[in-house]
Amino acid sequence: MKTVDYIIVGQGVAGSCMALQLLQNNKSFIIIDDNKHKASAIAAGIYNPVVLKRFAIVWNAKQQIKKLKNVFNSFEQLLNQKYVYEFPVFRIFNDENEKRTWNKKADREDLKDFLAKDFSRLNTFKNIHQPIGSGEVLETGRIDLSNLLPDFKQYLKLKDHCLDESFNYNLLEIENNKVIYKDIEAKKIIFSEGYHIKENPWFGQLPIIGVKGEVLRVKTDAILPDAVVKAKEFLMPLGNKEFFVGATYDRDNVNYEITEEAKTILLAGLKQFLEDDIQVVDHKASIRPTVSDRRPIIGAHPKFKNLICLNGMGTRGTMLAPVMVEELYNYLEFDTPIHPEADISRFYHLLNE
Ligand SMILES: Cc1cc2nc3c(=O)[nH]c(=O)nc-3n(C[C@H](O)[C@H](O)[C@H](O)COP(=O)(O)OP(=O)(O)OC[C@H]3O[C@@H](n4cnc5c(N)ncnc54)[C@H](O)[C@@H]3O)c2cc1C
Repeated sequence: MKTVDYIIVGQGVAGSCMALQLLQNNKSFIIIDDNKHKASAIAAGIYNPVVLKRFAIVWNAKQQIKKLKNVFNSFEQLLNQKYVYEFPVFRIFNDENEKRTWNKKADREDLKDFLAKDFSRLNTFKNIHQPIGSGEVLETGRIDLSNLLPDFKQYLKLKDHCLDESFNYNLLEIENNKVIYKDIEAKKIIFSEGYHIKENPWFGQLPIIGVKGEVLRVKTDAILPDAVVKAKEFLMPLGNKEFFVGATYDRDNVNYEITEEAKTILLAGLKQFLEDDIQVVDHKASIRPTVSDRRPIIGAHPKFKNLICLNGMGTRGTMLAPVMVEELYNYLEFDTPIHPEADISRFYHLLNE
């Protein structure tokens, strides 16, 4: 029997940030992951403190951005690779009204560090159609999760911290102060399965709402800025003349199939602001684990206190996972209260107490 402090199920951005936190604190753990429909692996990985529809600040944005840089820089140091790319996000205005709203909001205390007032920065790119101009969001960028996650998994495997397999819920034995899974005994088990939480017998009743997203990787010779350009859809540079185009939001067809319909929508959205020829290189789909009240869900099961939930990263896993992991870790190790808006106890009535 192998004895560890924690078992983690799921090595998306949430489980990986938790594994890093445990490594940094010399806690022993095993992470189990079957690499199935990992939302984090197809996500653009953009971090952006501003909601681009309404020009509103994201929940706890300042704290999230600070923690995110700290955590992903630690991954860079650990794995000796670059994963953090800082670049601006340009939001193309739909009309004059939006431009006025942006200008007003850029003076607000909570937004002034993030909304630039210079609307001319994209003007040199004559091939980008933006008759009303565009606003620049600051403190934004991308975490290259599509490389970070497999690199980190490889590292964890070499250190005997990772099992590349599906977790079988039927084999978990729950005792008062420990859990036993096959030949592993742990004080606690942390479930970070993303949308697969729906199959979890203890946490499957939580109000996780799947929102399917499809994305394209495209190639073009167009001269484009080293920045995200966003109108209805967004374009993000990947290097080597390749770009990421995303993403659809579909609450009705929650599955992992790629569709011609979504491809047409994404390409039409791109055509709104870019006339240049492009060639589609790849097309992927996954499901975002969103929550009815748009907040993550972290904490212990009401009856089985050694079963822990780390989920609900929604549309912003890159920004949320680092702070939520820190919050959860402090709760698990030091009994520090969880932020009430993220605390699983708000949904205890839905779980089998
Ligand atoms: C199209 C799209 C674009 C997105 N763009 C962005 C973006 O730009 N910025 C951003 O911040 N967020 C973005 N998101 C959201 C982001 O992807 C999610 O918030 C985040 O990936 C959720 O991470 P997670 O670790 O909770 O789940 P996941 O990444 O889905 O990871 C869960 C892991 O658990 C494993 N697992 C589940 N059940 C089991 C089991 N029984 N046994 C073993 N392993 C199991 C799965 O194999 C998977 O590897 C996007 C999402 C989509 C779909």
